[in-house]
Amino acid sequence: MPDRPYLSARLRGFGTTIFAEMSALAAETGAINLGQGFPDVDGPRAVADAAIAAIRGGQNQYPPGPGILDLRRAIADHQRRFWGIQVDPEREILVTAGATEALTAALLALCEPDDEVLALEPTYDSYRAAASMAGARLVPVSLRPPGYVLDADSLRRAVTVRTRLVLLNSPHNPTGAVLSRRELEAIAEVCVERDLLVVTDEVYEHMVYEGEHIPISTLPGMAERTVTISSAGKTFSFTGWKIGWATGPAALVDAVRTAKQFLTYVSGAPFQPAIAVGLRLADTYFEELRSDLAHKRDVLCNGLESAGFEVYRPAGTYFVTAGIRRLTDEDGDTFCRHLPARCGVVAVPTSVFYEHPTDGRDAIRFTFCKRIEVLEDAAHRLKALA
Ligand code: PMP
Ligand code: GLN
Repeated sequence: MPDRPYLSARLRGFGTTIFAEMSALAAETGAINLGQGFPDVDGPRAVADAAIAAIRGGQNQYPPGPGILDLRRAIADHQRRFWGIQVDPEREILVTAGATEALTAALLALCEPDDEVLALEPTYDSYRAAASMAGARLVPVSLRPPGYVLDADSLRRAVTVRTRLVLLNSPHNPTGAVLSRRELEAIAEVCVERDLLVVTDEVYEHMVYEGEHIPISTLPGMAERTVTISSAGKTFSFTGWKIGWATGPAALVDAVRTAKQFLTYVSGAPFQPAIAVGLRLADTYFEELRSDLAHKRDVLCNGLESAGFEVYRPAGTYFVTAGIRRLTDEDGDTFCRHLPARCGVVAVPTSVFYEHPTDGRDAIRFTFCKRIEVLEDAAHRLKALA
């Protein structure tokens, strides 16, 4: 009898997500939670007020399948305003229950059983599970430390006759790497040559501190083969609202919508108009979000360096990956489980983002989307390790 007799083979090997597990550990021990990425302050007041007004105003029944038109228009305006991308709100945008649902629906819709999905490794945790639920197989393409740079030849070598799509993520969780134009061009070249689709997860699009965010759909030959995914959780600090979206050519978005209909049908009726308000906020909102997080990044990275970690200073996202070899012989997982008792801080082992966990055992991930005083307190506590 297997250990978990009811779990289907497609989900064998998947347990409680490490983020939930580590947040539970933080709650249990009272440690500062720099594990799961969620801010400790709410997003803009105007956006919260718009959600309250929508609830009071009766926007509480099923919204339209693709999302309310006003939000789809706001998403189209946002894509044009920030990235110069033109999308038709009527046919080329789908509102989803967070980026998570958009990603899963995309893989369910676009993959045949036994297809291969190439993804950058370390790999955000939901990708492998989503591929597996779609009957597909995730094939990792390594971003190598210390710089977490993509080797285009290894991407090219990973393509087989079974490869259906490339699942990208930039800015990249957990490393904080931001794919450069050169890296994106190399990926685009392979995709065009081998006629692959691209699903690109750009939830950290507004959190870039060095370099620039370039949506891969803006590169020649890419718009017609790319589903671009993002969400409101990170950009507006309302991770619990779960409003996300997928944009791209009508035929691809139609496929994703077909899968999405039978996952949640629709979601978040009163949050949809509120996120439309958020997407229309002035440029200063987006600039301040970025500069505030850039400062937080430096506070945490400096603290980690003084505590003896080897820090890869991230160009984007709100995560930093830190090498632990100067501090311990333990692997990252064991080290993270001992960290609350040793110094009252929770982090996430990088090993969970690898197909073979030993590959990531030398590093752990911290988030810096917390108040400055919390980051300073954490940095002070971590000094106990040095
Ligand atoms: N992709 C990445 C890379 C993420 O870090 C997250 C994080 N939370 C998600 C997708 C999921 O986003 P959402 O909460 O909108 O589902
Ligand atoms: N994306 C967040 C992280 O990487 C967590 C979201 C989740 O718990 N699924 O920490």
